[in-house]
Amino acid sequence: MTSPPADHGFATRAIHAGQEADAGTGAVVTPIYQVSTYKQDGIGGFRGGYEYSRSANPTRTALEECLAALEGGGRGFAFASGLAGQDTVVRSLLTPGDHAVVPSDAYGGTYRYFNKVAGPQGIEHTIASLSDVDAVRAAIRPGTTKLVWVETPTNPLLNIADIRALAEVAHAAGALLVVDNTFATSYLQNPLALGADIVTHSTTKYAGGHSDVVGGAVVTAQDITVKGLEDASERIAFHQNSIGGIAGPFDAWLVLRGLKTLAVRVERHCDNAEVVVEHLMGHPAVEAVFYPGLDTHPGHDVAARQMKRFGGMVSILLKNGEQSAVNVCAATKIWTLGESLGGVESLIEHPARMTHASVAGTELEVPRNLVRLSVGIEDVGDLVGDLDAALSAHG
Ligand code: PLP
Repeated sequence: MTSPPADHGFATRAIHAGQEADAGTGAVVTPIYQVSTYKQDGIGGFRGGYEYSRSANPTRTALEECLAALEGGGRGFAFASGLAGQDTVVRSLLTPGDHAVVPSDAYGGTYRYFNKVAGPQGIEHTIASLSDVDAVRAAIRPGTTKLVWVETPTNPLLNIADIRALAEVAHAAGALLVVDNTFATSYLQNPLALGADIVTHSTTKYAGGHSDVVGGAVVTAQDITVKGLEDASERIAFHQNSIGGIAGPFDAWLVLRGLKTLAVRVERHCDNAEVVVEHLMGHPAVEAVFYPGLDTHPGHDVAARQMKRFGGMVSILLKNGEQSAVNVCAATKIWTLGESLGGVESLIEHPARMTHASVAGTELEVPRNLVRLSVGIEDVGDLVGDLDAALSAHG
């Protein structure tokens, strides 16, 4: 499949990259190749290189090419979940005795992975505040640190890391910089252009965009020059096939379909988030609002440099403590109480008891009066009204 040139705009690439009309039928949408194996024209005579769907499947290939085009990367890989992709990256690049720097504010499952899965297998990590470049430099163990893992904005506190500065720090120490771009999306932020080596996504979120699929993506830079890790793309390709945590054809198709509208959806998520934030800033029940678009946010200037806009995620602290946070989450009618984020519908959740329950008692523990909002693309007046009613009654 051919792709539009890299200098085409984001929406053009999202709609066309990897997605030529079907050669046999002219179908303008990439078909769901719901197939496990492929007829060979004589042993080893693969048509289009397809042999077995764990190794490659045409629907997944289309998605992988599209993901790479959207991040400006060399190769894309699609996985069964965001965590399956992250696991494949870590296993591909680190062996027992190696070390990673992990954010002090991150998706709870990422921390749990490093702490409870990679750790017992001999891969060590140090937690560092990634908005503090010196703290990251200090956390690096020269010679054994192979990865610096970055989230920006972070889940759930919306902290910002300076990708360009961290790439320099990581590279100087012979480590790769991996950026989880789930919250920002490929539309708002392109970490590879800022010096990162690998981008990951939970495509479950904005990429899929409709809360109907669980998936993950990994995109590697065109050229990785860090000594000993230059072959990161080949290693990830090998491990994707050898471990097998791949996206199935239907899931790949759903994410591919989601990507086509990513640009327009994210613009609307941002528009709505800005209105919601403005409203929350003046609400008497709210102690603090975390949103990188606020010029009072400590990471605002960095975010303004590296993001097109500031995204659809907002977190707030409630003045009246945990119970009021829990009550507000249960009281909204349009905002749905649920985990996950990035879908067209607005979601509300209590990280301490839900998405980040697994980090309770660790350095990543989140405030108990924190409420996280995934601002959807409904009519913003309805969103503000619903939130306002819940905050006024229970905040
Ligand atoms: N990264 C971030 C920032 C997330 O929010 C999540 C899930 O919430 C993941 C990774 C893991 O993705 P998945 O749930 O698709 O495995």
